[in-house]
Amino acid sequence: MLAEMPFYRPVGNECILFEITYRQRLPLLIKGPTGCGKTRFISHMAARLGRSLHTVSCHDDLTAADLTGRYLLKGGETVWMDGPLTRAVREGGICYLDEVVEARKDVTVVLHPLTDDRRILPLERTGEILQAPDEFMLVVSYNPGYQNILKSLKPSTRQRFVSISFDFPPAETEIEIIAAESGLPVKQCIPLVNLAKRLRELKEIDLEEVVSTRLLVYCAILMKSGLDPFQAAETALVEPLCDDVEVKQGLLELVRATY
Ligand code: ADP
Repeated sequence: MLAEMPFYRPVGNECILFEITYRQRLPLLIKGPTGCGKTRFISHMAARLGRSLHTVSCHDDLTAADLTGRYLLKGGETVWMDGPLTRAVREGGICYLDEVVEARKDVTVVLHPLTDDRRILPLERTGEILQAPDEFMLVVSYNPGYQNILKSLKPSTRQRFVSISFDFPPAETEIEIIAAESGLPVKQCIPLVNLAKRLRELKEIDLEEVVSTRLLVYCAILMKSGLDPFQAAETALVEPLCDDVEVKQGLLELVRATY
Protein backbone atom coordinates (compact mmCIF):
# COMPACT_ATOMS: atom_id res chain seq x y z
CA MET A 1 0.00 0.00 0.00
CA LEU A 2 2.91 2.34 0.72
CA ALA A 3 3.86 2.42 -2.97
CA GLU A 4 0.45 3.87 -3.83
CA MET A 5 0.46 6.53 -1.14
CA PRO A 6 0.19 9.95 -2.83
CA PHE A 7 3.08 12.23 -1.90
CA TYR A 8 2.13 14.85 0.67
CA ARG A 9 4.55 17.21 2.41
CA PRO A 10 3.04 18.24 5.77
CA VAL A 11 3.05 21.95 6.53
CA GLY A 12 2.15 21.74 10.22
CA ASN A 13 0.52 19.09 12.38
CA GLU A 14 -2.39 18.52 9.98
CA CYS A 15 -1.65 14.79 9.57
CA ILE A 16 -1.87 14.19 13.32
CA LEU A 17 -5.00 16.32 13.55
CA PHE A 18 -6.62 14.33 10.76
CA GLU A 19 -5.73 11.04 12.36
CA ILE A 20 -7.13 12.03 15.75
CA THR A 21 -10.29 13.36 14.12
CA TYR A 22 -10.68 10.08 12.23
CA ARG A 23 -10.09 7.92 15.32
CA GLN A 24 -12.59 9.98 17.31
CA ARG A 25 -15.17 9.61 14.50
CA LEU A 26 -15.59 13.35 14.04
CA PRO A 27 -16.44 15.06 10.76
CA LEU A 28 -13.81 17.44 9.35
CA LEU A 29 -14.04 20.74 7.47
CA ILE A 30 -10.98 21.98 5.59
CA LYS A 31 -10.93 25.62 4.52
CA GLY A 32 -8.45 27.07 2.09
CA PRO A 33 -7.77 28.58 -1.33
CA THR A 34 -7.89 26.58 -4.58
CA GLY A 35 -4.77 24.57 -5.33
CA CYS A 36 -3.18 24.70 -1.88
CA GLY A 37 -3.08 20.94 -1.29
CA LYS A 38 -6.43 20.03 0.32
CA THR A 39 -7.31 17.23 -2.09
CA ARG A 40 -3.78 15.81 -2.06
CA PHE A 41 -3.79 15.86 1.74
CA ILE A 42 -7.04 13.91 1.96
CA SER A 43 -5.99 11.29 -0.60
CA HIS A 44 -2.70 10.90 1.26
CA MET A 45 -4.47 10.46 4.59
CA ALA A 46 -7.02 8.01 3.15
CA ALA A 47 -4.17 5.84 1.83
CA ARG A 48 -2.28 6.17 5.09
CA LEU A 49 -5.30 5.03 7.09
CA GLY A 50 -6.08 2.30 4.56
CA ARG A 51 -9.55 3.64 3.75
CA SER A 52 -11.23 3.94 0.37
CA LEU A 53 -11.83 7.53 -0.76
CA HIS A 54 -15.07 8.73 -2.36
CA THR A 55 -14.62 12.25 -3.70
CA VAL A 56 -17.44 14.43 -4.97
CA SER A 57 -16.84 17.85 -6.53
CA CYS A 58 -19.92 19.77 -5.52
CA HIS A 59 -21.71 22.11 -7.93
CA ASP A 60 -24.98 24.02 -7.87
CA ASP A 61 -26.96 21.20 -9.49
CA LEU A 62 -25.77 18.58 -7.03
CA THR A 63 -28.70 17.11 -5.12
CA ALA A 64 -28.99 14.80 -2.15
CA ALA A 65 -29.86 11.91 -4.51
CA ASP A 66 -26.50 12.39 -6.30
CA LEU A 67 -24.85 11.59 -2.98
CA THR A 68 -27.16 8.96 -1.57
CA GLY A 69 -28.23 7.10 -4.72
CA ARG A 70 -31.25 6.51 -6.90
CA TYR A 71 -33.32 3.86 -8.62
CA LEU A 72 -32.21 3.26 -12.20
CA LEU A 73 -33.76 1.26 -15.00
CA LYS A 74 -31.55 -1.66 -15.97
CA GLY A 75 -32.73 -4.21 -18.52
CA GLY A 76 -36.37 -3.44 -17.76
CA GLU A 77 -35.89 -3.63 -13.99
CA THR A 78 -35.51 -0.86 -11.47
CA VAL A 79 -32.40 -1.31 -9.38
CA TRP A 80 -31.10 0.81 -6.56
CA MET A 81 -27.65 2.33 -7.17
CA ASP A 82 -25.75 3.64 -4.17
CA GLY A 83 -24.33 7.13 -4.54
CA PRO A 84 -20.77 7.92 -3.34
CA LEU A 85 -21.82 8.94 0.17
CA THR A 86 -23.81 5.73 0.68
CA ARG A 87 -20.93 3.64 -0.69
CA ALA A 88 -18.53 5.30 1.74
CA VAL A 89 -20.89 4.65 4.65
CA ARG A 90 -21.45 1.00 3.70
CA GLU A 91 -17.73 0.33 3.12
CA GLY A 92 -16.42 2.36 6.02
CA GLY A 93 -14.53 4.70 3.69
CA ILE A 94 -13.82 8.42 3.62
CA CYS A 95 -16.29 10.62 1.77
CA TYR A 96 -14.82 13.93 0.62
CA LEU A 97 -17.16 16.67 -0.57
CA ASP A 98 -15.07 19.30 -2.32
CA GLU A 99 -16.52 22.86 -2.40
CA VAL A 100 -19.48 21.78 -0.33
CA VAL A 101 -21.04 25.29 -0.30
CA GLU A 102 -21.79 24.90 -3.99
CA ALA A 103 -24.20 22.02 -3.35
CA ARG A 104 -27.95 22.46 -3.10
CA LYS A 105 -29.59 22.98 0.28
CA ASP A 106 -31.07 19.48 0.53
CA VAL A 107 -27.53 18.08 0.66
CA THR A 108 -26.93 19.55 4.11
CA VAL A 109 -30.10 17.86 5.36
CA VAL A 110 -28.61 14.48 4.39
CA LEU A 111 -25.30 15.33 6.05
CA HIS A 112 -26.68 16.44 9.42
CA PRO A 113 -27.55 13.04 10.94
CA LEU A 114 -24.14 11.76 9.82
CA THR A 115 -22.31 14.58 11.55
CA ASP A 116 -23.66 14.14 15.07
CA ASP A 117 -23.30 11.26 17.46
CA ARG A 118 -26.03 9.28 15.71
CA ARG A 119 -23.81 8.80 12.63
CA ILE A 120 -26.70 7.54 10.54
CA LEU A 121 -27.67 7.89 6.91
CA PRO A 122 -31.40 7.48 6.39
CA LEU A 123 -32.21 6.43 2.81
CA GLU A 124 -35.77 7.56 2.34
CA ARG A 125 -36.20 5.86 -1.02
CA THR A 126 -35.16 2.38 0.13
CA GLY A 127 -36.40 2.72 3.69
CA GLU A 128 -32.96 1.84 5.08
CA ILE A 129 -31.27 3.60 7.96
CA LEU A 130 -27.55 2.96 7.65
CA GLN A 131 -25.41 3.13 10.76
CA ALA A 132 -21.97 4.43 9.78
CA PRO A 133 -19.18 2.09 10.92
CA ASP A 134 -16.30 3.51 12.99
CA GLU A 135 -14.10 3.62 9.88
CA PHE A 136 -16.43 6.00 8.02
CA MET A 137 -15.35 9.65 7.93
CA LEU A 138 -16.95 12.70 6.34
CA VAL A 139 -14.60 15.43 5.11
CA VAL A 140 -15.81 18.60 3.42
CA SER A 141 -13.86 21.55 2.05
CA TYR A 142 -14.56 25.04 0.84
CA ASN A 143 -12.70 28.11 -0.26
CA PRO A 144 -13.68 31.03 2.00
CA GLY A 145 -11.86 33.45 -0.32
CA TYR A 146 -14.35 33.82 -3.10
CA GLN A 147 -17.59 32.93 -1.40
CA ASN A 148 -20.18 35.63 -1.28
CA ILE A 149 -22.23 35.93 1.82
CA LEU A 150 -25.12 33.96 0.32
CA LYS A 151 -22.85 31.08 -0.46
CA SER A 152 -21.06 30.49 2.78
CA LEU A 153 -21.84 27.54 5.00
CA LYS A 154 -24.72 28.03 7.39
CA PRO A 155 -23.44 28.39 10.98
CA SER A 156 -25.62 25.45 12.04
CA THR A 157 -23.80 23.29 9.50
CA ARG A 158 -20.30 24.64 10.20
CA GLN A 159 -20.77 23.97 13.89
CA ARG A 160 -21.00 20.27 13.16
CA PHE A 161 -17.43 20.00 11.91
CA VAL A 162 -13.99 20.16 13.42
CA SER A 163 -12.13 22.62 11.15
CA ILE A 164 -8.62 23.15 9.86
CA SER A 165 -7.48 26.17 7.82
CA PHE A 166 -5.09 25.57 4.93
CA ASP A 167 -3.07 28.16 3.07
CA PHE A 168 -0.21 28.15 0.59
CA PRO A 169 2.84 26.60 2.26
CA PRO A 170 5.77 28.71 3.50
CA ALA A 171 8.42 29.33 0.81
CA GLU A 172 10.86 26.62 1.93
CA THR A 173 8.14 23.98 1.93
CA GLU A 174 6.63 25.14 -1.34
CA ILE A 175 10.05 24.88 -3.00
CA GLU A 176 10.35 21.31 -1.76
CA ILE A 177 6.86 20.44 -3.01
CA ILE A 178 7.41 21.94 -6.45
CA ALA A 179 10.77 20.23 -6.86
CA ALA A 180 9.29 16.87 -5.80
CA GLU A 181 6.21 17.19 -8.01
CA SER A 182 7.95 18.46 -11.16
CA GLY A 183 11.49 17.13 -10.96
CA LEU A 184 12.80 20.67 -11.59
CA PRO A 185 16.05 21.24 -9.64
CA VAL A 186 15.62 23.12 -6.35
CA LYS A 187 17.81 26.01 -7.51
CA GLN A 188 15.32 26.68 -10.32
CA CYS A 189 12.33 26.34 -8.00
CA ILE A 190 13.64 29.07 -5.68
CA PRO A 191 13.17 32.00 -8.14
CA LEU A 192 9.78 30.59 -9.09
CA VAL A 193 8.54 30.66 -5.50
CA ASN A 194 10.02 34.16 -5.03
CA LEU A 195 8.08 35.28 -8.09
CA ALA A 196 4.92 33.69 -6.68
CA LYS A 197 5.40 35.65 -3.47
CA ARG A 198 5.54 38.91 -5.44
CA LEU A 199 2.54 37.98 -7.57
CA ARG A 200 0.54 37.03 -4.46
CA GLU A 201 1.39 40.31 -2.77
CA LEU A 202 0.08 42.46 -5.63
CA LYS A 203 -2.59 44.53 -3.94
CA GLU A 204 -3.39 47.01 -6.68
CA ILE A 205 -4.52 44.31 -9.08
CA ASP A 206 -7.96 42.91 -8.46
CA LEU A 207 -7.72 39.17 -9.11
CA GLU A 208 -10.32 36.70 -7.94
CA GLU A 209 -7.63 34.18 -7.04
CA VAL A 210 -3.87 34.23 -6.62
CA VAL A 211 -1.19 31.91 -8.00
CA SER A 212 -1.69 28.49 -6.40
CA THR A 213 0.81 25.79 -5.55
CA ARG A 214 -0.85 23.75 -8.29
CA LEU A 215 -0.05 26.42 -10.92
CA LEU A 216 3.53 26.64 -9.67
CA VAL A 217 3.86 22.88 -10.13
CA TYR A 218 2.49 23.22 -13.69
CA CYS A 219 4.93 26.04 -14.39
CA ALA A 220 7.84 23.96 -13.10
CA ILE A 221 6.72 21.00 -15.26
CA LEU A 222 6.76 23.25 -18.34
CA MET A 223 10.22 24.56 -17.40
CA LYS A 224 11.49 21.05 -16.77
CA SER A 225 10.34 19.99 -20.22
CA GLY A 226 12.50 22.72 -21.72
CA LEU A 227 10.08 25.61 -22.24
CA ASP A 228 11.59 29.06 -21.92
CA PRO A 229 10.95 30.14 -18.28
CA PHE A 230 9.25 33.40 -19.26
CA GLN A 231 6.84 31.58 -21.52
CA ALA A 232 6.28 28.89 -18.91
CA ALA A 233 5.35 31.54 -16.35
CA GLU A 234 3.11 33.36 -18.80
CA THR A 235 1.26 30.14 -19.67
CA ALA A 236 1.02 28.67 -16.19
CA LEU A 237 0.90 31.69 -13.87
CA VAL A 238 -0.54 34.67 -15.77
CA GLU A 239 -3.00 33.40 -18.38
CA PRO A 240 -4.92 31.08 -16.01
CA LEU A 241 -5.56 33.95 -13.60
CA CYS A 242 -6.86 36.76 -15.79
CA ASP A 243 -8.25 37.82 -19.14
CA ASP A 244 -7.81 41.58 -18.87
CA VAL A 245 -5.01 42.75 -21.17
CA GLU A 246 -3.77 45.51 -18.87
CA VAL A 247 -3.79 43.34 -15.79
CA LYS A 248 -1.87 40.69 -17.71
CA GLN A 249 0.72 43.27 -18.69
CA GLY A 250 1.15 44.21 -15.02
CA LEU A 251 1.71 40.59 -14.05
CA LEU A 252 4.05 39.99 -16.97
CA GLU A 253 6.24 42.89 -15.86
CA LEU A 254 6.86 41.07 -12.60
CA VAL A 255 7.59 37.87 -14.49
CA ARG A 256 10.04 39.72 -16.74
CA ALA A 257 11.88 41.06 -13.70
CA THR A 258 12.62 37.44 -12.73
CA TYR A 259 13.17 35.79 -16.13
P1 ADP B 1 -6.85 21.85 -3.61
O1 ADP B 1 -7.59 20.59 -3.36
O2 ADP B 1 -6.56 22.64 -2.38
O3 ADP B 1 -7.49 22.70 -4.69
P2 ADP B 1 -4.72 20.10 -4.52
O4 ADP B 1 -4.65 19.21 -3.35
O5 ADP B 1 -5.33 19.56 -5.77
O6 ADP B 1 -5.41 21.50 -4.17
O7 ADP B 1 -3.21 20.59 -4.79
C1 ADP B 1 -2.77 20.98 -6.07
C2 ADP B 1 -1.42 20.41 -6.34
O8 ADP B 1 -0.44 21.08 -5.53
C3 ADP B 1 -1.27 18.95 -6.01
O9 ADP B 1 -1.64 18.15 -7.12
C4 ADP B 1 0.20 18.82 -5.69
O10 ADP B 1 0.94 18.72 -6.90
C5 ADP B 1 0.55 20.16 -5.09
N1 ADP B 1 0.60 20.25 -3.61
C6 ADP B 1 0.09 21.27 -2.88
N2 ADP B 1 0.39 21.12 -1.58
C7 ADP B 1 1.11 19.97 -1.48
C8 ADP B 1 1.75 19.29 -0.37
N3 ADP B 1 1.69 19.78 0.88
N4 ADP B 1 2.42 18.15 -0.65
C9 ADP B 1 2.48 17.68 -1.91
N5 ADP B 1 1.92 18.28 -2.98
C10 ADP B 1 1.24 19.42 -2.78
